[in-house]
Amino acid sequence: MQYILILFYFGLSFLIALKIGKHKALGFWLTLVFCLVLSPFFGYLIAANSRQINEKGCPWCGNKYNEAEYCGICGKNENGNFRPGFVPDIK
Ligand SMILES: [Zn+2]
Repeated sequence: MQYILILFYFGLSFLIALKIGKHKALGFWLTLVFCLVLSPFFGYLIAANSRQINEKGCPWCGNKYNEAEYCGICGKNENGNFRPGFVPDIK
């Protein structure tokens, strides 16, 4: 019975790290460590509150390193809306 619980604990930690941590600024390995050390519940909370990584980059200006909701170069989000207060740099 204990064996199943331990397996469940590791499996859950791994799944949380894979499904949530991988797509967050926290990352897969850190999420896995937090899940195993603190418990999958806290690992999940920490990962869920971590910053989201925009893996696709900016679709408007091709800024591959954009990790925020709004792009740092052109100031647009995924839907093409400008960040509030952003003044487009028109050249
Ligand atoms: Zn952009």
